[in-house]
Amino acid sequence: MNIILFGPPGAGKGTQAKKLVDFYGIPQISTGDILRANVREGTELGLAAKSYMDKGELVPDQVLIGIIKNRLKEDDCKKGFILDGYPRTVPQADALEAILDEIDKPIDIVLNLEVPDEVLVGRISGRLMCKCGASYHTISNPPKKDNICDICGGEVFQRVDDTADAVQNRLDVYKKQTQPLINYYKEKGILVTLDGTKDIEVVFEDIKAILAKFA
Ligand code: ADP
Ligand code: AMP
Repeated sequence: MNIILFGPPGAGKGTQAKKLVDFYGIPQISTGDILRANVREGTELGLAAKSYMDKGELVPDQVLIGIIKNRLKEDDCKKGFILDGYPRTVPQADALEAILDEIDKPIDIVLNLEVPDEVLVGRISGRLMCKCGASYHTISNPPKKDNICDICGGEVFQRVDDTADAVQNRLDVYKKQTQPLINYYKEKGILVTLDGTKDIEVVFEDIKAILAKFA
């Protein structure tokens, strides 16, 4: 099953991706997590990406296309994958299509999590993350032990780009550069829109019901 989890920042893509990984045993490919790992490790890629990320801008397409091309070639993607945070522009979506055409593994479904801006701002400003990619919320979804990730035991932290200014910019960038992909995938007949404001477990049940026909 080849899935794109789509939606604005804070829609719950990472949260649902982690649950899908456990349920279906296919990998999550989060370009945000890959970039943050590179920033942490101080790689050349991380150094180049950091200034864009801190401001809430998109990292240039060619960088992302290179990352995705390499990642999709790895063995664990053979059974399927969950893309989280990619594609975010039309050139990224076109490049993805070309990469997947080559290996004859098209995208089966694009799950579009719809959440209004005012809810997104509240979610992002309270978000806590772990470096393993797990996502929590100070109020609605705190880790079981204070500041400790339930999944890997790492320390949770607030993302540097979850500040009020960067959040607003990310929402603007989403509307200008990423939202057009909704029509892009609608025209291909593979977009399904879900109400992402429901509780985490309810959204997950809705996703599983939609995916059941691909299993
Ligand atoms: P994204 O990956 O789309 O940016 P996340 O999965 O990191 O979003 O979720 C953003 C924030 O919202 C996190 O704090 C997360 O715990 C919280 N969250 C995710 N889904 C829901 C939901 N359905 N209801 C309430 N809070 C949620
Ligand atoms: P995310 O974790 O998905 O919210 O992404 C965090 C940041 O990483 C974004 O604000 C961008 O700066 C960068 N990023 C992640 N994925 C992409 C992408 N597909 N294209 C461009 N920039 C990206």
